[in-house]
Amino acid sequence: MKKIQSKKLLMGRLGYGKDLLQEITDICLAENIGLGRVEAIGAVQKACIGFYDQKARDYQFRKIEQALEIVNLTGNVSMKEGHPFVHAHISLADHKGNVYGGHLAPGTTIFACELIVEVFEGAILERTLDEETGLPLW
Ligand code: ZN
Repeated sequence: MKKIQSKKLLMGRLGYGKDLLQEITDICLAENIGLGRVEAIGAVQKACIGFYDQKARDYQFRKIEQALEIVNLTGNVSMKEGHPFVHAHISLADHKGNVYGGHLAPGTTIFACELIVEVFEGAILERTLDEETGLPLW
């Protein structure tokens, strides 16, 4: 475990119709955030979420083509191949309250989203390929 400190918080609204993962990533790139955590609530027009198949060592992606509430989005920011990289998981509820969840993937379109980013300092966490899992881990 690395010792880190909270440096600052950013809070704001993300753009209608934009890709959720890309918007968060763009903020981290623009603000030069290489270490931190993210959380958000809101709603999406459609979603794409991943499930990591541990045997196949590959993501299976599920597209959900309907309006959904973001019950929770939580994730972290670290470095991968020299650039800030956002890893986020999301829980989404449909109009009946059924919840879908998984690894946030490109293809999730924002309806409305309120984001908080906490910026950390004190360490660098770099993702590299982990042979045991096949995942890019710290
Ligand atoms: Zn994940």
